[in-house]
This record gives sequence, C-alpha cells and structure tokens, in this order.
Amino acid sequence: MPPDAPSMVAATYVRNIDASRAFYQLLGFREHSAGRAETSGWTVMHLDGLSVLLASTTPPLEIPRLPLLFYFFYADLDAVVAVLDVAGVQLTRTGHPPHALGGEVKVLDPDGNTVLLGQRERSASQAPAAGDEGLLQFSLLKETAAVVAARGGTSRACQVHDSNGGPCPNRAEVKLADSLGDMTWVCLIHAEEILVTVPAAFIASQGDGGIAAFLARH
Ligand SMILES: [Zn+2]
Repeated sequence: MPPDAPSMVAATYVRNIDASRAFYQLLGFREHSAGRAETSGWTVMHLDGLSVLLASTTPPLEIPRLPLLFYFFYADLDAVVAVLDVAGVQLTRTGHPPHALGGEVKVLDPDGNTVLLGQRERSASQAPAAGDEGLLQFSLLKETAAVVAARGGTSRACQVHDSNGGPCPNRAEVKLADSLGDMTWVCLIHAEEILVTVPAAFIASQGDGGIAAFLARH
C-alpha cells in the first residue's frame, strides 16, 4: 500500500518576499505563517488545499529564471483573471489545451518565472472554444528557448544529422542532456523528437555547474 501523504508544500526562493506575497495574494493565496531572521525570510501561503512556501535570503541567492514555476488549476479561471486585470498584471491567454478545456493563461511572477493558470473543464457559461488559432500555445520547450535567448542565446547549429549524414539546417535553441552525461544543442523540432523518443533525456539548464559545482561548495 502506498504511504499516506495528505498534503504537499511547493517551495521556491524569491528575490523580494513582499513583492511575491502580493503576487500570490492576487492568485487567491493567503498568508498562513511567516518568519524573518537576519539573513532570511519565509512565508507559507494557502489556497484551499494548496501550500506555497516563499523564501528569500540576504544577500539574495543567484536564482535562475525558470520556464515553468507553478501550474495552478482553478474552478473559475475568469474570476482570477478579473482580479489580475484590475491589478494591471500582464497575462497571455494560451488557448484551451486538452488539459485545460476551460482555458489557460500565462503570467510572470515578480522574479520573471512563468506561472500557468488553468481551468480543467469548460463551464456551462463559457462559449465553446472556437478560433484558438492565433493564440500562443504554451510550450515548455519554447519557454526554455526564450530563457536561453534572454541569456544571450547560442550561435550554434542544431547538432542532429539526418539519415544522409547532412546537418540539420536549424539553429540550436535548447540544450538537452541524458542521465549518462551526454549533452547536445538542438533545434526545437529535434528537441521534441528526442524528449519523446529518448526516455532518459531532459532539458539541461544552461550555465550552472551541476553536481560538480555543488560538491565543490561542500
Ligand atoms: Zn534540428
């Protein structure tokens, strides 16, 4: 029998805990407990059964911007969107993907990370989703490529060769790695193919030192 695990706390480091608290309050979270010490601060925020722990340190940690930080599902997405609109938060509607037939929007948290808000089912009051063409479809790979580009990008070509041995003509946009330690820069089309067909492949973050850097610090 699997162990009982009635709840989970998702934790993230933030640069400014007051700005982040205000952001999560717009999403409906309320502060449950908080603490502050000389060089750190934290707050736990609740919404229904969800818990988010925000923590910050002084001096701030070097925090990479993430292509996806959290995905929250709401029963009534429009109500949340109305609150965000009043607060002047920029949001992008990303359509009605199969996992969010009631709609999906993308917002950025105060640290620039992507937070997705979705509604699983279309509600009776919503018009049938038509004309999603033209709306940006959220893609984790595209978000990752945007983060790479924001850090200066890469001038490399895609490192995949076709069956005739010719190089892929596309520019590389993301770095993939596998658990054996191999890494390659690839275009988005080949990245998708690799992630779907190579079970141990994952999106590699650019620039951090990995386990070697962790061990060097300890
Ligand atoms: Zn390619």
